[in-house]
Amino acid sequence: MPAAAGIAKGTLYVVGTPIGNLRDITLRALEVLSAVDCIAAEHVQHAQKLLAGHTLPATSRILPLHQHNEGNAAEKIIGLLRSGKSVALISDAGTPAISDPGALLVQQVLAQHFPVVPVPGASAALCALSASGLIAPHFFFYGFLPAKSGERQRKLAGLKTLYACILVFYEAPHRILESVADMVAVLGATREITFARELTKLFETIHTCALGEAPDWLQADENRQRGEFVLLLAPAEEPDQEDISPQAVHTLSVLQRELPLKQAAQLTAEITGESRKKLYARALEQKTEI
Ligand code: SAM
Repeated sequence: MPAAAGIAKGTLYVVGTPIGNLRDITLRALEVLSAVDCIAAEHVQHAQKLLAGHTLPATSRILPLHQHNEGNAAEKIIGLLRSGKSVALISDAGTPAISDPGALLVQQVLAQHFPVVPVPGASAALCALSASGLIAPHFFFYGFLPAKSGERQRKLAGLKTLYACILVFYEAPHRILESVADMVAVLGATREITFARELTKLFETIHTCALGEAPDWLQADENRQRGEFVLLLAPAEEPDQEDISPQAVHTLSVLQRELPLKQAAQLTAEITGESRKKLYARALEQKTEI
């Protein structure tokens, strides 16, 4: 075990922990966890396991902080900081406050003018991105999509025009098939998807295919639907719409209110003389923006 770090009094440390492989933790994180007065953890047992795995002193220092008690736990922690104690915040996996509890605590601690010190570590999203082979100047981290299909499709439609970005999602195994089906329905079959499954664990899988092939790939082997997932959607070509005149765009949106997409595009093409194909693509865009 490394020597104890110089821990500052009245300070909250936000500590990244492993996302699977117990050894993916920094020397500094171990130092902080061994030296702080209290560890705020999403699940006490999980934290005990992490500490025991690194032969760190445990039990009485752990205080539960999860999504159902974060406000109360934050009050307690601020009390501890006020009395000069040091506190580390950890979640079950990866970086606290990233699709995990902790953001409210950090906000409230800062509001009371106590120092907050990040101790960086693993995060599933960055781990997946780094090994995906996808190339893009930007990525957009979304986290978990809604559980219900209609709402999920609406959120996906809102993300559709982020063409230059890799889109990053977390997903639970019991929803993986239906989420992917919604992605195909909203974003089309050609966009590439990377499944980053069970990262840093025994059955780690990183697989990229076209969205249209993804349901078959998942169903070809039940094990592919098990475990923890990061889903990455590759950037997409922005549809070329610049050469559609503003008048055609206007006609299209008026007709689209009354007619099915195909018919609206066809009629607009006849009225304006512009390409029916481009108008149809534009109509699809407008539909998802609505
Ligand atoms: N705070 C964590 C982080 O920094 O990555 C994320 C916590 S969130 C509650 C848990 C989700 O992260 C899982 O449902 C899964 O989508 C993703 N995840 C966590 N560990 C993973 C792993 N080893 N492989 C793939 N995805 C993982």
